[in-house]
Amino acid sequence: MAFDYDLFVIGGGSGGVRAARVASATGATVALAEEYRMGGTCVIRGCVPKKLMVFASGYPGQVEEAQAYGWDAKIGDLNWGAFHGKLREELDRLEGVYRKLLNGSDVEIHDGRAKLIDPHTVSVNGKTFSAKHILVATGGHPVKPDLPNAHLGWDSNDIFLSEKLPKSVLIIGGGYIACEFACILHGLGVAVTQYYRGAQILRGFDDEARGLLAESMTQRGIDLHLGTNIVEMGPANEDHTGPHPTASDAAGGGQVREIEDYDGPIWVKSTNGSEKVFDRVIFATGRVANTTDIGLEDAGVTLGRRGEIVVDDYSQTNIPSIFAIGDVTGRVELTPVAIREGMAFVETVFKGNPTKVDHELIPSAVFTQPELGTIGLTEEQARDIEPIDVYCTSFKPMQQAFAGGSERVLMKLIVSQATDKVLGCHIVADHAGELIQMVGIAVKNGLTKAQFDATCAVHPTMSEELVTMKAPMRSA
Ligand code: NDP
Repeated sequence: MAFDYDLFVIGGGSGGVRAARVASATGATVALAEEYRMGGTCVIRGCVPKKLMVFASGYPGQVEEAQAYGWDAKIGDLNWGAFHGKLREELDRLEGVYRKLLNGSDVEIHDGRAKLIDPHTVSVNGKTFSAKHILVATGGHPVKPDLPNAHLGWDSNDIFLSEKLPKSVLIIGGGYIACEFACILHGLGVAVTQYYRGAQILRGFDDEARGLLAESMTQRGIDLHLGTNIVEMGPANEDHTGPHPTASDAAGGGQVREIEDYDGPIWVKSTNGSEKVFDRVIFATGRVANTTDIGLEDAGVTLGRRGEIVVDDYSQTNIPSIFAIGDVTGRVELTPVAIREGMAFVETVFKGNPTKVDHELIPSAVFTQPELGTIGLTEEQARDIEPIDVYCTSFKPMQQAFAGGSERVLMKLIVSQATDKVLGCHIVADHAGELIQMVGIAVKNGLTKAQFDATCAVHPTMSEELVTMKAPMRSA
């Protein structure tokens, strides 16, 4: 049977675009549909704008440190409008680059929302197209808790779109996005309160690293409340001291319209009984796969419990012609992983070289201040699997110590007693994201502690500790 295309990709994010381009390079005829902006979460409303905001938020701290080094330095106020305008221009530029790359790779672009009709047919903008293979790479979106008036709160998308910086925010959540935005907004001069329902932020990361990071964030001025959640929210009253009298009527009656349009300060009641008013409430309470209303049911694709597309090791769904990669599959929600999944898909389907995606030992970083870089097993995970030695050191780094700062960094290695292999590495420090990329090469390749130690230290650096820790701090 002749198809319109060899491959139809749904979703123009990092994974979809890469897969489309690489498939086209094999000689396949490829189309890609995107309903919003080319580039997806990472480029348009995630990693890229977030990192530029991380850079912007770091300057006040640097100027303060410069003063301690003798500089007559001062920082004024942030001109959010100027920064935001430049940010928008940069995202426009990047979107243009993505389009150009697709055009240059002979991928046919369809600007519109694509829907599956059956295992080989897609409709977009009222037209239907047949394809031998369909790749779903539609990503995910942030979700808010099921709470009356939750629509008054922002999610991460709203932060990037905002024309104005709020003076005070309450961030709900303790994951990547919550912690990163707590630090970014604090650095930009916003008064930040963060509620996390659990005992410590960043569940799943190494306990010692989480603890140190939480301490640093608090020391820097973030009002972090653990074991705390939001229970009620609504418009604040006129003098910003309590709830607007109509807040609790939001679910029905004549006041709904007023609340729909409300854009003012928000009153919040929390699980600890406190009542406070914030300019904005930001929900960073997780993300879900974009799998609704794209015809997956019509094509017979099986979804998982959280709405994600279920795939095998080769990113193939239960329908042989339909594959899925990236956040929509709910595996590891990171851009470089989606890109690898896209490349492995092309190897498997278009190059006749079945390739599984390797999801083991993926380094990652949380871009907080300081950053947290991590790869491999945490101390808690490792000690449940085998006997381990824990090498770690926590100290005031030279640059900050000289400036009179009290913040400490953490360098930590988890080592197998049986094989001497480094099973995990956890770093809390400025530029930990850059450091963990390098350590990641060693850990991914199964190097031993002895091989780490055989590498000469670079002095004076923070990371030289990773090759000079002589005795374990503890064993388990
Ligand atoms: P996470 O799953 O990391 O965090 C969600 C947070 O919200 C958790 O702390 C969770 O608490 C809390 N939460 C969930 N539901 C509720 C609720 N009803 N009330 C209160 N709190 C709630 O999601 P994110 O959205 O932060 O990030 C999604 C993914 O995106 C990450 O897993 C990561 O893969 C990726 N990402 C990566 C980044 C990077 O590489 N630097 C940056 C940003 C995102 P609990 O722990 O109790 O479940």
